[in-house]
Amino acid sequence: MSKNRQFFDKIEKIRGVCLLTLLVFSTGISGQKLKVVHKAKTYWKTVGSDSLQRMVELKSLLPDLEYDLRYATTLNFTGTVLYKSSQYTFLRLPAASALSKVEAALESLGLGLKIFDAYRPYHATVLMWDLVHDERYVANPSKGSGHNRGLAVDLTLIDLETDEELNMGTGFDNFTDSAHHTFKKLSNEILENRQLLKKTMEAAGFRALETEWWHYSWPNDRNYDVLDIDFRKLLHK
Ligand SMILES: [Zn+2]
Repeated sequence: MSKNRQFFDKIEKIRGVCLLTLLVFSTGISGQKLKVVHKAKTYWKTVGSDSLQRMVELKSLLPDLEYDLRYATTLNFTGTVLYKSSQYTFLRLPAASALSKVEAALESLGLGLKIFDAYRPYHATVLMWDLVHDERYVANPSKGSGHNRGLAVDLTLIDLETDEELNMGTGFDNFTDSAHHTFKKLSNEILENRQLLKKTMEAAGFRALETEWWHYSWPNDRNYDVLDIDFRKLLHK
């Protein structure tokens, strides 16, 4: 726990530089060549030529999942609201369809999913990078992330009867070794819970991330663009 406190103190100290760095990345002063789509019109044009690029609103597609969108609140490791939408959350069509398969597979076990985060507009990743600066945990803005592309989801398992989260050993966004898949000094129950989530997500086509038991991503096999578009503008043309 003291590690977490030290980490939080560090965040407090560097928070002041956040806005400056956001400006640097968003204006391209850093010289990065990453393509970031800021205009909804550009996104909709892409969807027009490739329907698989569509961003699907998850609460509409999968209303029976639990949603606890932490970055729309201050209840996340930054203590800062990173984006304003708690009402909507998105994944690209193939990833959203795969998630519905995961839901179906878990239902027979009396289990469901709780979503912490999915699409994350690019500016939110820039803010996070200012706070953490560690590529094991936060995507470097120069590359863009799976979340920025609507391909990554942070989630956990819940018991459908109680709505309680299964014990995963650490909370979401715990930046210690104990959140790694290779960390085995945990109870059998925790290891089995993590393994079940991993096995079910991978069977549906998602890929795990070694350092975060809660993070899964869909392969970026269609060159999905990094988006910095407001949630509401993704709902309708
Ligand atoms: Zn994630």
